[in-house]
Amino acid sequence: MSDKFLPYSRQVIDENDIAAVANVLRGDWLTTGPYVKDFEEAFANTVEARHAVACSSGTAGLHLITAGLGIGPGDQVILPSITFLATANAVSYVGAQVVFSDVDGETGLMGPPQLQEALSRAEANRIKAVIPVHLNGQCSKMEDLQKIAGDVPLIEDACHALGACEIFSGKKPAKIGSCYSSRAAMFSTHAVKAIATGEGGMITTNDNRLVETLRTLRNHGIVRDKERFRIKTNEPWYYEMHELGFNYRLTDLQCALGLSQLSKLKWFIEKREKLQQRYAITLSKLGKYVKPIQTVDHCTPAWHLLVVLIDFDGLGVTRADVVQALTTKGIGTQVHYIPVHSQPYYLKRSSTPFLSGVELYYSRCLSLPLWPGMSMEQVDYVVLSLGEVLGLNI
Ligand SMILES: *Cc1c(COP(=O)(O)O)cnc(C)c1O
Repeated sequence: MSDKFLPYSRQVIDENDIAAVANVLRGDWLTTGPYVKDFEEAFANTVEARHAVACSSGTAGLHLITAGLGIGPGDQVILPSITFLATANAVSYVGAQVVFSDVDGETGLMGPPQLQEALSRAEANRIKAVIPVHLNGQCSKMEDLQKIAGDVPLIEDACHALGACEIFSGKKPAKIGSCYSSRAAMFSTHAVKAIATGEGGMITTNDNRLVETLRTLRNHGIVRDKERFRIKTNEPWYYEMHELGFNYRLTDLQCALGLSQLSKLKWFIEKREKLQQRYAITLSKLGKYVKPIQTVDHCTPAWHLLVVLIDFDGLGVTRADVVQALTTKGIGTQVHYIPVHSQPYYLKRSSTPFLSGVELYYSRCLSLPLWPGMSMEQVDYVVLSLGEVLGLNI
């Protein structure tokens, strides 16, 4: 074991990635250049969507979607409480209210029963969207959620699930991001995600009108298409602003890096899968107090996080002590996530009942290191160390 600290996640960058970025630095366009379209096209092809829109972060992308769908003050949006803050914040940015749903205590996913229960708490005529989160790289049961949501559009927070598929009986698997039962899907290319551009995001959609709105909002709300001008003019510098937009563009430096990273996605996911399998085998030796999250059978996952559910109470240890002890052994861990509805900001704005699945999941979850640059020996070291810290012998 090397004496270097093992983080819970990090990017894997090779010489081709570095050359791709250097190439942009030598060229004419640092931003709004040709790599943006290239990255968008390659991404859309990868997930089998009609359109892809690159943006400055996953958070920015979620905000573009809520704004682009015209969600605003007085509206409500349902999303699971086990997610990153950004999912909820994208709803708050446009002045709408978040209705937090419960999750399955073993998978952390918002399933059909949890969505049903959240709908019963929301006001039917105010609900404008539902945002399932494909937590840890396992997908939500989109078809079933869509049936329950009815006319209300689904927006996928797919930040964990680039490369995952939903599988159905008697039908071809559907790639996450192909938007087979959603209006749009959002991915992040933050450094710890499946592919890295530092900061960055990508929206996919099959909706020809929505994609135009998203592109306009990404660039200050500026319209350059003469056909859409309110004033007839031939002034070559002329443009119009029809809506309040943002600067949520992704640079060519990042898009070139993203393209290069995307070419390795298959390898990244296969390696994550192998590491996950190794974890599953070695973790099973620790006994009943420690188990990897339950895998769902409607999904071919793209493992983003390696979450174990630990019965800390049963073992008579605190999670804080375990995290500290692992840090001392050079192992980074994280907790994904603190229930968003319990954050002071949201306590004031949403009245959420006790969510038993959320509490069950949150009280036990711990994310162990998982990223494609890791070795099988490092997995074994992590599990051995975890066993030692928990007082369990392998
Ligand atoms: C990373 C992440 C986001 C936000 O993406 P950024 O690119 O960091 O803005 C949103 N939701 C989930 C579930 C994420 O993991």
